[in-house]
Order: sequence, then C-alpha cells, then structure tokens
Amino acid sequence: MQDIYYAEQQIAKNLPTMIQKASDPQLKQGLEHHLRETQNQIQRLEQVFKMHGQTAKGTTCAAMDGILEEASDILGVANDNDVKDAAIISAAQAVEHYEITRYGTLIAFAKQLGRQDCASVLQQTLDEEHAADRKLTQIAEARVNRKAA
Ligand code: FE
Ligand code: FE
Ligand code: ZN
Ligand code: FE
Repeated sequence: MQDIYYAEQQIAKNLPTMIQKASDPQLKQGLEHHLRETQNQIQRLEQVFKMHGQTAKGTTCAAMDGILEEASDILGVANDNDVKDAAIISAAQAVEHYEITRYGTLIAFAKQLGRQDCASVLQQTLDEEHAADRKLTQIAEARVNRKAA
C-alpha cells in the first residue's frame, strides 16, 4: 500500500510533462483523463488506509522511480513528434503494467485477509489501469506507431 501510494503520487507528478510533450490529440486527451483518474486513485488509497485505521503514508518505490526516469531519458532522445508520441505510449504502458501487478497483488492479499471491502475499492482502480493500458494500445496500433515508423 505504501509502495503504490508513493508510485501513484510520482505518476501524478510526471503525467503533466507527458501530456505537454504529446502531439496526438487522442493521446493527449487519454493522458489527461488518466491524470484525473490517478488523482482519484490516490484518494481511494487514502480511503483504504483509513479502513485499516491508518494514515496514508508512502515509501519510496525504486521501480516506479526507475520507470519514470527511463521515460524522461527516452523522451529526451526522441526529437520527431510522432516518435515522441510512440515513446510516451511505451513509457506510459510500462507505468500501467507496474500498477496492474501491484493492485493485482493487493487485491489478492485483501481477499486472503477477509477484506472484501478493501478488495472492492482497489478493484475499481485496477479496472481503470487495465482500461488505460488498452486505450494506449489502441492509440498506438490505430495511428501512432505507423506515423512514427
Ligand atoms: Fe494509477
Ligand atoms: Fe529498462
Ligand atoms: Zn485492506
Ligand atoms: Fe495508471
């Protein structure tokens, strides 16, 4: 919980840069939508901490720091706008996949501990992460990868 709480906050901090650097309108809009979802996901985590009688607290997630650092490196190298869009999608999908593993595990742990209430809250977020990932695949396959090539 502390790991993903930190990770979500870093994602919320980094998404505005990706949005600003994106050119494809659907990609920009998709990332803006997911930034709003991310802010809501942070509140959901605070709710689950509260359901455990705890105050929300983060702990450094080296994996998310690394994924975001790689994203900023790769964006620094790409100078063509279409290539930049393809790079943004590849980085954003790495973020989504990390989140999917974390929420999947947290939901399994919550169920094992008899906390269906926590599992249900976390499941809403997992559904959003899956949808964000699918949307990125769709944008890449519909247009961005071909233009970048
Ligand atoms: Fe998230
Ligand atoms: Fe890598
Ligand atoms: Zn719980
Ligand atoms: Fe996400």
